[in-house]
Amino acid sequence: MNGGILEGKVTLVTGAGGGIGRATAVVLGQAGAKVLVSDVSTRRGEETADLVRGAGAEAEFFKADVSRAADVEALIATAVKRWGRLDCAHNNAGISGTVVNVADDTEENWDRTLAVDLKGVWLCMKYEIQQMLKQGGGSIVNTASTAGLLGAVRMGAYAAAKHGVVGLTRTAALEYARSNIRVNAICPGVVGTPVILGWFEANERLKKAMIAQEPIGRVGEPQEIGNAVAWLLSDHASFVTGAAIPIDGGMTAQ
Ligand code: NAD
Repeated sequence: MNGGILEGKVTLVTGAGGGIGRATAVVLGQAGAKVLVSDVSTRRGEETADLVRGAGAEAEFFKADVSRAADVEALIATAVKRWGRLDCAHNNAGISGTVVNVADDTEENWDRTLAVDLKGVWLCMKYEIQQMLKQGGGSIVNTASTAGLLGAVRMGAYAAAKHGVVGLTRTAALEYARSNIRVNAICPGVVGTPVILGWFEANERLKKAMIAQEPIGRVGEPQEIGNAVAWLLSDHASFVTGAAIPIDGGMTAQ
């Protein structure tokens, strides 16, 4: 592929076996990037790598659980071994956790949600930034959520983790701004990933309620999130760092 905004860049997407990560991996490939696809699910991750190759780009799959330091260290080392560097990373793996009020939550749900959604992003950034410092720069986009900017009823652990992602993003952006490493977060609203579309099929009332949160009158397409990530990762966003950008059909403007 020639002439894309990420031409020749070595990129990583975590949680790339799922809706937003998969769509982003394909968009990055279409934009000219080499893509290291990662997920805890080998089957879904390999499917995504095939889709990226189908889009004409180089892709590899590496299985990693982002909540485990050894997995994440090996993941970043894989990019360097395969392509010699890591220019861009989309730290996107996440789980929603149990849907429950704060006082009814369990320690197990709290620990697991924070481990994947917040510690996972920190671990990814830790090893990505170490590599980017060695090579003289890079660009990182973390997936937060509108739940990183607003409260999210019955999703306290998730909202806490996603607010944490925004705080961590801003902090890392400040710490590494002079090292040519940009760090931003995206805050998607309701996105029509296979999981969410499955909920919609099972529950018409939930579908109406979720769409009603979106002033634009529909849910987002995973590719619309991927387009924003590709731009943020690219040199077209060279003056953007420390931002937490809603991609939410106007939800947080209300
Ligand atoms: P998804 O469930 O379709 O995909 C998430 C992927 O992450 C899955 O393939 C899963 O296997 C993987 N994963 C889970 N735990 C992991 C771990 N420990 N290590 C590595 N991979 C792991 O979900 P999605 O909707 O595509 O969500 C992607 C990101 O976007 C998440 O961080 C989510 O919180 C965020 N988000 C989604 C929405 C939405 O409406 N879909 C809105 C806002 C934010």
